[in-house]
Amino acid sequence: MHSQDDGAQAWCEAIAFTREQSPASFDQWFSSVQFDGLTDGVLSLRARDEFVRQWVEDFFLPTLSDRLQAKTGLSIQVRWCIDGALERPVADRPTAFAPVRPRPISVRPPADDGFASESGVHQVVAENPRVAAVAPPVEGLNPKYTFANFVVGPSNQLAHAASMAAAGVGGRRHNPLFICGGTGLGKTHLVHALAHRVREERPSARIVYISAERFVNEFVQSLQDQKMHDFRARYRERCDLLLVDDIHFLAGKTQTQEEFFHAFNALHQASKQIVVTSDKYPQQLDKMEERLVSRFQWGLVADIQAPELETRVAIVRKKAQIEHIDLADEVCLYIAQMVRSNVRELEGTLIRLAAKASLLGHPVDLTFARTEIAATTTARPNEASVEDIQRVVCHHFKLRSTDLLSKDRHKSIAFARHVAMYLCKQRLKCSFPELGRAFGNRDHTTVISAVRKVEALRGSDPEVRAHLEAIERKLGSIE
Ligand code: ADP
Ligand code: MG
Repeated sequence: MHSQDDGAQAWCEAIAFTREQSPASFDQWFSSVQFDGLTDGVLSLRARDEFVRQWVEDFFLPTLSDRLQAKTGLSIQVRWCIDGALERPVADRPTAFAPVRPRPISVRPPADDGFASESGVHQVVAENPRVAAVAPPVEGLNPKYTFANFVVGPSNQLAHAASMAAAGVGGRRHNPLFICGGTGLGKTHLVHALAHRVREERPSARIVYISAERFVNEFVQSLQDQKMHDFRARYRERCDLLLVDDIHFLAGKTQTQEEFFHAFNALHQASKQIVVTSDKYPQQLDKMEERLVSRFQWGLVADIQAPELETRVAIVRKKAQIEHIDLADEVCLYIAQMVRSNVRELEGTLIRLAAKASLLGHPVDLTFARTEIAATTTARPNEASVEDIQRVVCHHFKLRSTDLLSKDRHKSIAFARHVAMYLCKQRLKCSFPELGRAFGNRDHTTVISAVRKVEALRGSDPEVRAHLEAIERKLGSIE
């Protein structure tokens, strides 16, 4: 049994640690939060309003809870209470609960890293004047899309590390950072997380987040209203960090591309960070000016692949935790096994299950999950599996079924193996690590290079094309 006193002591230590991470931001938010006690793992907090509660929950609680858990050995549950009239907010009387003397609120001097701290005019006026003093909100950001809520696995590791680095959290910063990958794989989430982090760490940085679609609309509107001067100032001058989501949307829009090109140059020359997301690699972007495509490759191109099983399980767990859904491990695993292609679908399935279960007053157990998922997934009954593809490829090249999984590096076997990997990647939406495992436990980088090689040969070598077409015809007949 942990007493109130033990709890208060653990709280003091955890809160001092959390404050160290980002003192300015901490003081700003914790001047609207009150500590009511910590007993038996239940942390009671009081927030001035719902906005503060949500913010503290998203940005500070993960660190705080981890710290408290380490200190008390108990898993921490938070009980919130909303109260407009706080008596002793944490940050106003930090000595009451923090052993360290509070430092005065200070904003770090700007490093020479592209986030200059000119006193910029922000486009959005904050609703809460306390927050405006520190960092105005950035339009269009989802508060839940934070780094803390992002699950990192082999499929998104590079994009995640590069986003952290672009936010100034260690690692080499690449400019531009080009994040690409299929739909629903976390590109927008990462870019929002990056913006949240910069906003927190450098409150004076002027962050502009915009979808390419909106960029086009704003551009057209500015032309019509003869406000191009404003438009240009917004993207070329009043901006320290430009985040453009779904750049593929600029395809074929020559005039907007031209405008974006100039904004890009102005920012890049001023060493301002640019981050762009896309559903394709730069060189695969259709109807995009060559000079833009080449600029997209100046920095780092980081791709995100479909997550492998372990990452999917971790994502389902994380989402369940965020949404306060009670989920057994076996159900997590089942959902992750059933929904493989993209994280948005994975999340949708979980939320749908939880909503239905709660309406029916039923727990989300395995039987319920099985029935529901079977009823809602559009069955693709005869979809080929990895094994089917391997079988057809072996038959075509007259190999034994074990050859593809073996360590044999004989040229003809290696070629057939590469073709099979390529076809699996094309048709099955499996991740590279999953395919590596399905091909005799090979490393995912081997699969990536095999797929790229066959892709290139398909374009340049008619014999390879003929093989692929013949195998695809056979596969077509079993689907
Ligand atoms: P994209 O922009 O690539 O189409 P999003 O960023 O919109 O995809 O992601 C779709 C959903 O999946 C979002 O709700 C996002 O939070 C979630 N998501 C994607 N990847 C991850 C991840 N690695 N960890 C946690 N959630 C993720
Ligand atoms: Mg997106």
